[in-house]
Amino acid sequence: AAAQPLLAVQNLEAWYGESHVLHGINFDVRPGEVVTLLGRNGAGKTTTLKAIMGILPKRKGSVTFEGTETIGLPSRAIARAGIAFCPEERGIFSSLSVEENLMLPPQVKPGGMSVEQIFDLFPNLKERLSSQGTKLSGGEQQMLAIGRILRTGAKMLLLDEPTEGLAPVIIQQIGRTIARLKQEGFTIVLVEQNFHFASSVADRHFIVEQGRVIDMIPNEELDANIEKLHGYLGV
Ligand code: ATP
Repeated sequence: AAAQPLLAVQNLEAWYGESHVLHGINFDVRPGEVVTLLGRNGAGKTTTLKAIMGILPKRKGSVTFEGTETIGLPSRAIARAGIAFCPEERGIFSSLSVEENLMLPPQVKPGGMSVEQIFDLFPNLKERLSSQGTKLSGGEQQMLAIGRILRTGAKMLLLDEPTEGLAPVIIQQIGRTIARLKQEGFTIVLVEQNFHFASSVADRHFIVEQGRVIDMIPNEELDANIEKLHGYLGV
């Protein structure tokens, strides 16, 4: 039998002020799975991650994590439950060193990675230990941003376009990191524009269009559905 989902999103709606952006997002993620949210610009992918994380004031529907309803909870409580969000803009503090940036989030769950373990995952970062955030390349900033959320002890990671603006060789490195996190038992929701990358790391793909999930494609069926996918993404 299929495992119970770790995260289940049902009829999730969200608003920015009066603007109704999510109209009923439905998807689930099994323990240890990597899934992507794919879709055109403005489809509502980032908003979905923010709504799951509770950082949008107005939302409704259901988001259960480990079987517990989180929709009424403040973002702090959702983080404590073990979900971590890495925003597209990465949120690196330019005036702080790599080490200081890593130490920023509190461990909210037992079992958060130590700084040493994070450096083991991202050896490049170790060489930059005392560098300021601003001195890092885009790839290093992305690794720092992912490393930082691993400190929290969350086992469910929401990553918003980790490959945005990065060179192919760095994208491959991020891909290897995601594969390793999956091996270590993390469960990951990835927002991606780069579907070549998405297909190299994910188990299933959910297509978001105008604030709804309109389709799901298992990764092994991606090639057979490539025309359909191009239609969805407008490429
Ligand atoms: P992108 O890759 O462009 O970020 P996306 O699928 O992640 O695409 P969202 O960022 O979730 O899309 O945006 C969904 C809709 O919400 C868009 O119409 C966008 O203009 C609108 N929107 C996003 N952020 C805000 C905001 N802070 N205030 C008002 N509207 C917003």
